[in-house]
Amino acid sequence: MGSTRPTVREQTARRRGGVAAKMSQIIQPSAMILGEVASPGVARGVALVCACGEQLSVPRRMIEESDAGHELERFETAIAEAEQELLDLQREVQQRVGGDAAKIFQAHISLLRDPALRHEVSTRCLTEHVNVEAAVEDAIEKLASVFAHIEAPYFRERAADVRDLGKRLLNILNQAAPAGTPAPSQESVIVTSELLPSVTARLDHQAVRGLIVEQGGQTAHATILARELGIPLLIHVPQATQRIQSGDRLIVDGLSGRVFINPAPSILREYDRLEADFEARRTALEGLVALPAVTRDGVEIKLGANVGKSADAAAAASLNADGVGLYRTEFVFLAQDHFPSEEEQYRLYRTTANHVQPREVVIRLLDIGGDKPLPYFPLPLEPNPSLGLRGTRLLLAHPEMVTPQLRAILRLSATHPVSILLPMVSGAEDVRAVKAVIESVKASLASKGESFNPRIPIGAMIETPSAAILIGRLGQEVDFFSIGTNDLVQYLLTTDRTSSKVASYYEPLHPAVLQMLASLTTTVGARGKSISICGEMAGNPAYTQLLLGLGFRSLSVRPGELLEVKNAVRSITMQAAQNLAQQVLQCDTIQEIKDCLQIAQQRLAATIAVERDVEGDSRTKASP
Ligand code: PEP
Ligand code: MG
Repeated sequence: MGSTRPTVREQTARRRGGVAAKMSQIIQPSAMILGEVASPGVARGVALVCACGEQLSVPRRMIEESDAGHELERFETAIAEAEQELLDLQREVQQRVGGDAAKIFQAHISLLRDPALRHEVSTRCLTEHVNVEAAVEDAIEKLASVFAHIEAPYFRERAADVRDLGKRLLNILNQAAPAGTPAPSQESVIVTSELLPSVTARLDHQAVRGLIVEQGGQTAHATILARELGIPLLIHVPQATQRIQSGDRLIVDGLSGRVFINPAPSILREYDRLEADFEARRTALEGLVALPAVTRDGVEIKLGANVGKSADAAAAASLNADGVGLYRTEFVFLAQDHFPSEEEQYRLYRTTANHVQPREVVIRLLDIGGDKPLPYFPLPLEPNPSLGLRGTRLLLAHPEMVTPQLRAILRLSATHPVSILLPMVSGAEDVRAVKAVIESVKASLASKGESFNPRIPIGAMIETPSAAILIGRLGQEVDFFSIGTNDLVQYLLTTDRTSSKVASYYEPLHPAVLQMLASLTTTVGARGKSISICGEMAGNPAYTQLLLGLGFRSLSVRPGELLEVKNAVRSITMQAAQNLAQQVLQCDTIQEIKDCLQIAQQRLAATIAVERDVEGDSRTKASP
């Protein structure tokens, strides 16, 4: 069994160069509460406790059968008004924050137009004989709880969007003012039970310095907006609205996840220092943008980006990423309430590819099933969905789903350097079957005179033990490999990646995982194919030295992790990395491996400073 895994908070603190960890030794706060970092940074301000997420009081009454028609007319009027409000909001956010943030409200409009909502509301008015406000409240709660009960966080967090929409409709029906957006007159920290996307979008980020939320989620739209606005946000802060009073002076530490209430002068002084350190680190890392990812002894590492939305690709381009190493197209499908058409997909993929052009985009075919259900494509319940119909298996069972996607990608390949990545393959049969579909799509495009790259590279994700064992053979079927450690770890260690009950068993540093990674790079290297790693493991700078030592020369990471990983690459010598890998491969237990890594990290930290890279760098790979 693995030793205790570091919490997200601990990992974040470690990744920030240990500055926050150092703080915890110095500060003994009198009033401090803990939360989870959702948007990083440090903020100070006066608390403004507000009711952004509180329940409205909804008038409930029984109606006569003959009144149902009138109630449903009121509902239609409210829908039209809500749609207009959302379009206005979308325009406003587009101007303030930019394209992808504004698309969040397009998702609200799609929810509003969803026939399921109309059906739920009219059924209640017509058969339960309740007024439209009650019908809307119940229908929204039903829809929200469907999302809230899905285990995958992405879906769970869509419940907040449904409730936000419900509040908008109820405000219109009640002719009440829309949910108030706090407009503080001084530098403030908003403290609330739930943060709604529509409220976050309107925050004045000059005055609102930080956000503290009792609920929330890492992939909630309100969180995404806070990140895009650059406002530090802590979520899951228990009883924040009771423990903090409006007017309290707060420090929000969005590095270690702490909130200090009316901090003592000694704490304020420590935060002056921390903010200066943080700013210096951010500036130093920004200095790495134009520099190559090259080890101290001159080995070039390809550092691509994992993206889901085109905003991620824009961020990747601005950070000078080596293209997109993993485009998770499921987000294209999840952002809609229906299957996107070939044309919609083509345009979205083209936008992403335009951002990073002339660099390559590795487009992964739709990877749903398991922990990633698609609400408008319900799959039969399976006792073990992660072992069931998902990834490539699902695409082969539903060629009608993958054909428009392949057509869109192939058309794009005529003008942009894109490749196709197959998710969750388990052996040569899967790969051959998808390749046959790709060939038939090529033939159909050719027959209509459509252009495409006939030699578009095809790669396989290595996420299952069977694919990992067969990687040498699969090299005859595909052009490249991408190692998905998120799933590979779960299948290799028979540990559900989404279950908190077995989280301590889910350990990327398990000796079996590391032996497997070493054998993958050796086998693929011997056959001259390219291999990259794109699971979360690749984005943790604490693992960079080990992964390079295990033979990886190409990593794909989230844009937010790219500069920290580049910094780690530039701090390492390949010789030291290979020595570390050799040492680690001799270890029997996770703890021994962690000890080796810790010693190696301490050695590095003692000798390396980011500034050295920025000033007087002598490595010469040109950056475009
Ligand atoms: C993986 O499994 O490592 C991977 C990158 O795929 P996902 O996280 O999307 O399942
Ligand atoms: Mg996966």
